[in-house]
Amino acid sequence: MSDQNETPVRPLKVAIVGAGPAGFYAAGQLLAQKDVACEVNLFDRLPAPYGLVRFGVAPDHPKIKSVIRVFEKTAKKDGFRFFGNVEIGTHVTHDELAERHDAVIYTTGASHDRRLGLPGEDLPGSHPATDFVAWYNGHPDAAHLQFDLTGKRAVVVGNGNVAVDVARMLALTEDELRETDTADHAIEALAASNIEEIVVLGRRGIAQAAFTNPELRELGEMAEADVIVDPAEVALDEGSRAWLTRDGADVREQKNVEIATEYSTRTPEGKRRRVVLRFLLSPVKIVGEDRVEGIEVVRNKLVADDDGWLTARPTNETEVIPCDLVLRSIGYRGRPLPDVPFDDERATINNLDGRVMDPETAEPIPGVYTAGWIKRGPSGVIGTNKKCATDTVTMLLQDVAEGLLPTPAKRDEDVAALVAERRPEHVDFAAWKRIDEHEQALGEPQGRPRVKLVSVDEMLEVANATAAAAD
Ligand SMILES: Cc1cc2nc3c(=O)[nH]c(=O)nc-3n(C[C@H](O)[C@H](O)[C@H](O)COP(=O)(O)OP(=O)(O)OC[C@H]3O[C@@H](n4cnc5c(N)ncnc54)[C@H](O)[C@@H]3O)c2cc1C
Repeated sequence: MSDQNETPVRPLKVAIVGAGPAGFYAAGQLLAQKDVACEVNLFDRLPAPYGLVRFGVAPDHPKIKSVIRVFEKTAKKDGFRFFGNVEIGTHVTHDELAERHDAVIYTTGASHDRRLGLPGEDLPGSHPATDFVAWYNGHPDAAHLQFDLTGKRAVVVGNGNVAVDVARMLALTEDELRETDTADHAIEALAASNIEEIVVLGRRGIAQAAFTNPELRELGEMAEADVIVDPAEVALDEGSRAWLTRDGADVREQKNVEIATEYSTRTPEGKRRRVVLRFLLSPVKIVGEDRVEGIEVVRNKLVADDDGWLTARPTNETEVIPCDLVLRSIGYRGRPLPDVPFDDERATINNLDGRVMDPETAEPIPGVYTAGWIKRGPSGVIGTNKKCATDTVTMLLQDVAEGLLPTPAKRDEDVAALVAERRPEHVDFAAWKRIDEHEQALGEPQGRPRVKLVSVDEMLEVANATAAAAD
């Protein structure tokens, strides 16, 4: 058992790169240690923390964002410092962090798009859903984007929760949008949208769709949108029936089939918009001369392998769905950071259970770790990152206990001095809270949780102006 005498005299200094859920959970775990005193310096490239909780989670799901309160508690702990608006790899290098900390944990997420690799993918009117999500959530990198919503039909490619979020955002009424923290530029554009039909395309069948039940159910409860499903497209083939009744079958998949089957029996009420769920169709080409005019799809059939796993195989039957907007929601992808080994195939930092591995020696790089989506790939809900971050912190503390961490060359130099020199316009947590309170104050008279500031300059102006007023 450890006791007070075993507490290291000097605290363990840890840099965490990325203030999304994984970064905050890792910080929380470290600062909760009783036997090891820790100091955490948490960096984010944006002045606003919380990663995809702020810039991914759909604005009409405000309860999910209440996890921010947990992160705020962590930020109040002794030993915690936030350095917002500091990009690691640009303003400060990996080596500079490693020289000043006992350990560095990368939690940079995976917020870039995967490509379909199809002809016509870059035609105007075809966009990654990642851009659309970032745009309606007011991400500063996406605030300048424009989506042409003057056409009547949009096609969303993908069968996960992000595809459902995107379809729902296109179908919400202006009144529904005006209750949320959707970025103002997106509310204006979506309120003026002419889109009447949103088609969501799944490569495989409803039994294989990745939607969670509440998300799929929500599509059937929209104020101004009918949900439409062709009974023939949710009729199960033999392979899917066997899949759904196998030992250990997933209740979520069974429920999805029930929900979509019920949708297929509905008579449309003639609402202003329609969300059409289509299955067993893969895009082969985005068609159009100078911009998107349609999407060519091929019908698939499901083929079972020896374990009963069903793969989509194209048939000869094709169809062109005329449309004006294509949003490709086929998954997110991590990006490499300078000087940090990256596994291109998995699009994750090269790691074994959170320890970053040197690909040449296949040995862990002492003192370098990773957690969250950039460790394990873009899947899992916010809470999944808690266990993931805890597992990584456990590895780190094991390495500390075994004396495996190197003594950093500039351990006694405070990284704050380097940040002040390289990035004078960085934002600490108090400055972020000023931005946060300003946003909430703007939202209050409108009955909204907040009005988001969507440019970094605007955020810095508020942080500095309010700081000056308080002096
Ligand atoms: C559209 C969408 C909707 C979702 N909806 C839900 C939902 O409703 N419920 C739910 O539970 N989960 C939802 N999720 C999943 C959830 O958001 C993720 O599980 C979670 O955010 C992943 O956490 P992370 O910390 O690994 O990455 P992120 O949340 O992406 O955080 C990474 C952070 O790293 C920062 N960063 C990146 N590079 C650098 C750098 N070089 N230097 C400094 N900082 C850097 C980024 O700015 C970001 O703040 C959704 C995801 C998406 C994409």
